[in-house]
Amino acid sequence: MTRLIEQLAALQTLDSQLDADRRRYAAIQEALHEPESLRQAQAALDEATARLERWQRERRRRETAVADQQARIRDQEKQLYGGRIKDMREQVALQQNVEMLKRQLGRLEEEALEAILEVEQAERDVAQARAHLEAEQAAWQQTQAQLLAEREALIVHARQLKNRRQSLSAQLSPDLVQRYEALRQKGDGLAVARVHHGVCGGCGASLPTAVQQQARGDTLVTCPFCRRLLCG
Ligand SMILES: [Zn+2]
Repeated sequence: MTRLIEQLAALQTLDSQLDADRRRYAAIQEALHEPESLRQAQAALDEATARLERWQRERRRRETAVADQQARIRDQEKQLYGGRIKDMREQVALQQNVEMLKRQLGRLEEEALEAILEVEQAERDVAQARAHLEAEQAAWQQTQAQLLAEREALIVHARQLKNRRQSLSAQLSPDLVQRYEALRQKGDGLAVARVHHGVCGGCGASLPTAVQQQARGDTLVTCPFCRRLLCG
């Protein structure tokens, strides 16, 4: 017949496995939250897109400014070469005005070109940010699938452990199970400690020789230091 302490030790093993399953389950639940890297990748794409849109608006504004300036110059040149202006001073003034408008046009064209280059750079940045986000999403989906599969397996495993635990505890007296439960609560989840080389597996203390011998016998004996049941 199996020693009582061995039955309790078997119960302890099941409970320790159940505790480990619960801890892993909680860790999985925690890990299933959307990762920070994914949020950052999305934020980077949003920022790059906003910058692109700003430069696209700016490019349109600057190109319009160039077109307006060109229209102004055409208008002035039409007057200048239309032959309607007879006054020499007026003609010189108009000529100077056209030259000034052309100098301004040069600056406006430079600014428009700068905006075109900025748009191109922003487009590359958006493409890069999108690729990064997609890679992050793919990695996260894979991780998520693995975690969900592990969680599923954990639920099945825990159910099996609980069934075995139930049939095992049914063989023990309710008083003993109650004592075991109370010890587990006080002992940080560990009610039964194995004795290895004369040392209590619960608290690590060296046990007196008499206690070690008792722990190998049929009567229940507790560790004089941590009060856990000893299985020798
Ligand atoms: Zn101990």
